[in-house]
Amino acid sequence: MNDIILCKLGEIVLKGLNRKSFEQKLVSNIKHKLFPIGRFRVYCMQSIVYVEAGEENADMDAAFEALQQVFGIISLTRAAACEKNMDAIIALAIDYLKDAMESAASFKVESKRSDKSFSLTSIQISQQVGDALSDAYPDCLVDVHNPELKVHIEVRDLAAYVHAAPVPGAGGMPVGSNGVALTLLSGGIDSPVSTYMIAKRGVRLIPVHFFSFPYTSMQAKEKVIELGRQLTAYTGKMTMEIVPFTHIQEEIRDKCPEEYFTLIMRRFMMRIAQRIAKDTGAKAIVTGENLGQVASQTMEAMASTQAVLQMPVLQPLIGMDKEEIVRLSRKIGTFETSILPYEDCCTVFTPKHPRTHPKVSEVEEAEAPLDVDALVDEAMAGLEQVVLA
Ligand code: ATP
Ligand code: MG
Repeated sequence: MNDIILCKLGEIVLKGLNRKSFEQKLVSNIKHKLFPIGRFRVYCMQSIVYVEAGEENADMDAAFEALQQVFGIISLTRAAACEKNMDAIIALAIDYLKDAMESAASFKVESKRSDKSFSLTSIQISQQVGDALSDAYPDCLVDVHNPELKVHIEVRDLAAYVHAAPVPGAGGMPVGSNGVALTLLSGGIDSPVSTYMIAKRGVRLIPVHFFSFPYTSMQAKEKVIELGRQLTAYTGKMTMEIVPFTHIQEEIRDKCPEEYFTLIMRRFMMRIAQRIAKDTGAKAIVTGENLGQVASQTMEAMASTQAVLQMPVLQPLIGMDKEEIVRLSRKIGTFETSILPYEDCCTVFTPKHPRTHPKVSEVEEAEAPLDVDALVDEAMAGLEQVVLA
């Protein structure tokens, strides 16, 4: 029997002219995702992506699980395929749905016929298959209003398919269909979640991490690399840029008034991110900022940080509660790593009384003693790349 996975596309079917390239992107992302699992045939027809075994013993269970992490798929179903005639469809339904029919108390058949040349209507298909299943499994009763099990029959271009309940997919749009952005990745709970959320909108991401050795430890850096690796389940392969940040932080500590330390540091992060963005074609900067969560996340503080930028900052967590962020972090599998107790450069030289409602001009004045361009150049010269897959 041919086991097959049907992936229904989400929003991308609404995209009119771009639809073809969205579909191609999704098919290519699916192929990459399945590559480590085995050989599969992946193709798109009528806004459904079909995944079939491409070799004997291809692990369909593992493929089904992996596909639930691919953005652009709204739901997935494992199905069995057969020839487009009623005898074959009925025989397959009886055989393929044996376990489901034996454990459910009631069922209903829903049919779809996208091949309009098929001789029966969808209602007739449902009736015939329903009768045959009732005969084969008399303990499972027909209930058209509130069935425990919904059996689906689809007559499509190449074949007919029999399947039971679909499971939800990751939703969103295929990564790479909506441009490239940088994502500022710390070791905290928030930034892995913001990365996930923007990847879900179809954006390919380049993680950037600011590293202040020896004030932050090698374990802190390893932790961020590990978070980046975990995110590749959703984002696909990424190359992380690690920025040496120690000298900048020391200069700020030595030459600027303490209450502005964090604000000035964040302006440097943005300037360096913008330089990396220009070099890599990224068009926005993603952060895990959340209104009011810490001193640097007031509206005035964010204005002073963003004043150095000519590109948008995407802050998908801005209006969320911590609880919601934690829930997502657990769901995507980064929470346990995020709570490992290593320090971040944001906690090095933190002011005792940070300015929370600064004017941009005050912050500019506070950083005036620094040679900004030279410090940014120096950091850019020390960039390190880590490939995450
Ligand atoms: P997170 O949980 O993501 O660390 P946070 O609530 O601790 O966020 P901040 O420490 O103020 O908030 O950082 C705000 C955002 O700035 C982070 O979400 C992240 O996008 C970015 N950021 C902070 N520290 C770093 C770092 N060392 N490297 C890269 N980005 C960073
Ligand atoms: Mg942090």
